[in-house]
Amino acid sequence: MRPYILAETNWEALKDAKIELAVLPWGATEAHNYHLPYATDNIQADNLTAAAAKSTYDKGAKVIVLPTLPFGVNTGQSDIYLDINLNPSTQLAILTDIVEVLNRQGIYKLLIFNGHGGNNFKPIVRELGLKFPKMFISFCFFPQMLDKDLYFEEKGDHADEMETSLMLHLRPDLVLPKDKWGDGASKKYKIKSYSEGWVWAERKWSEISADTGVGNPHKATSEKGEKFFNDIVEKLAQFMVELCDADLNDLYE
Ligand SMILES: [Zn+2]
Repeated sequence: MRPYILAETNWEALKDAKIELAVLPWGATEAHNYHLPYATDNIQADNLTAAAAKSTYDKGAKVIVLPTLPFGVNTGQSDIYLDINLNPSTQLAILTDIVEVLNRQGIYKLLIFNGHGGNNFKPIVRELGLKFPKMFISFCFFPQMLDKDLYFEEKGDHADEMETSLMLHLRPDLVLPKDKWGDGASKKYKIKSYSEGWVWAERKWSEISADTGVGNPHKATSEKGEKFFNDIVEKLAQFMVELCDADLNDLYE
């Protein structure tokens, strides 16, 4: 039983506890090229938050990881079989209920750990902040935590070398043999401005990628996945300790 994982701990352990920080991993259920499982984002988020919370807990910080939300925003993948879309407005409704519990029980620090690129928590966190002024809600998106170029050779953002490496490290039993891997080739908008980052429109996923991947996975290895995993965990744990220790009335300098 890991005492920092809510799903595994018990009332005996928690009835007199004073938790400082709740961590909410949020993933998605979606196709990941031909070779990775639909729960790829959830498995990554589960493992990264659990490992970082262990290190945080071992340093004496009062942290608890809530169960991973398994569905994410897949509005651009509506025609991809069994990609389970959760609308942003549904995410707001779910978060409102969870935050209401934390707020009522005096757990004022929440970190949403995002494992899926389609989830966008900024407008939601802004709205929740207005409604629950005592709460300090943060979110992070783990692929942005480190310079991926230092770990991986091929760029990508979905079922790519990074995600395939992580899954080879975490759950090699769920990764199909290499001859099944698609090349993750993807199309860009003809209008170049969309590639410059200042204008955005949702891509119709089935039209930009044949295998649902974006990014070539073929140079993925479990060793690369392990190194990236460990470095993310170390950075995340360091942040979580700092967040636990932070005085919410004295955040700025
Ligand atoms: Zn993914």
